[in-house]
Amino acid sequence: MKAPKFDYIKAESRSHALELLDQLGEDGRILAGGQSLMPTLNMRLSQPGTLIDINKVSDLSGITLEDGVVHIGAMTRHVEVATSPIVAKHLPLIAEAMKHVAHHAVRNRGTIGGSVALADPAAEMPACILALGATLVVESINGRREIAADDYFKGLYETAREPNELLVEILIPSKKTGEVSVFLELAQRHGDFAMAGLACVARVSNKTFEELRLVYFGSEDRPTIGTGAIAAVIGQTCSDECKEAAAIALANDLDPMTNLQGSAAMKLHLQKVLTGRALDTAVERAEAT
Ligand SMILES: Cc1cc2nc3c(=O)[nH]c(=O)nc-3n(C[C@H](O)[C@H](O)[C@H](O)COP(=O)(O)OP(=O)(O)OC[C@H]3O[C@@H](n4cnc5c(N)ncnc54)[C@H](O)[C@@H]3O)c2cc1C
Repeated sequence: MKAPKFDYIKAESRSHALELLDQLGEDGRILAGGQSLMPTLNMRLSQPGTLIDINKVSDLSGITLEDGVVHIGAMTRHVEVATSPIVAKHLPLIAEAMKHVAHHAVRNRGTIGGSVALADPAAEMPACILALGATLVVESINGRREIAADDYFKGLYETAREPNELLVEILIPSKKTGEVSVFLELAQRHGDFAMAGLACVARVSNKTFEELRLVYFGSEDRPTIGTGAIAAVIGQTCSDECKEAAAIALANDLDPMTNLQGSAAMKLHLQKVLTGRALDTAVERAEAT
């Protein structure tokens, strides 16, 4: 199928993009890398009247480290995030996850902002920024607003961003001393969207979990914090019993959706398996540092 007719405007600056978003309302749609938007237009799943192309707005991309926080501009391409020395050193969870995001061609065009704005429940970046306690910065003609990742994901492709707001950057606390992270994903083929996946950030001492954040994706309508599984493990020494307790608790944390990637029961089983693997790997990585 071909896309329905739409108008196209190239935003000359960030303020121009904000003005267009305000004027066009629900009828306007930001065009970033186009890797998700163009297929949905071609399949007629979406019919915006006007695309607002932000590819020439140069101050929306780039990666910097400021006072222990990594700033990633919304228009930063996946490939730039994947090859950034700042990300490799200060955000190892994201560096590990990026290897699972789509294929080279998609990573060359797709942007981290597009991924977070879209909020596909099987995407890697939303889970990572939730696990890392990131802050999303959005702007409209009325000013700038910061949204904690914990408050951002509202449902299937639904977020706390208003239609007249542009996602401009993501602020992610850099890795703290003693912190380890693990990213695990199961997909039908490498680079496909996840059947099940887990972003884990932990502090482990003598095989005991002192701090832990487990965020599951590819299961529910949004990335989900495994609060029961975390409570079952925190303060415990890693063991078969501890992993079993986490798996039992996870059945209450997650209510997976059956979809083309797999049944609800299979997804829950896979997430339990990934939880055990992530806990073991977190201990191994803590011992290796
Ligand atoms: C074959 C294929 C496989 C893929 N596999 C994966 C995968 O395994 N994992 C994964 O995470 N993704 C995958 N993707 C999607 C890819 O990562 C996209 O790049 C990403 O989802 C969207 O980024 P984009 O820059 O292309 O955004 P676009 O497609 O341009 O936009 C997506 C949506 O976000 C909105 N938007 C974009 N930027 C902003 C902004 N700054 N402010 C407000 N709204 C904005 C747009 O209006 C649109 O609604 C795949 C895509 C393809 C085609």
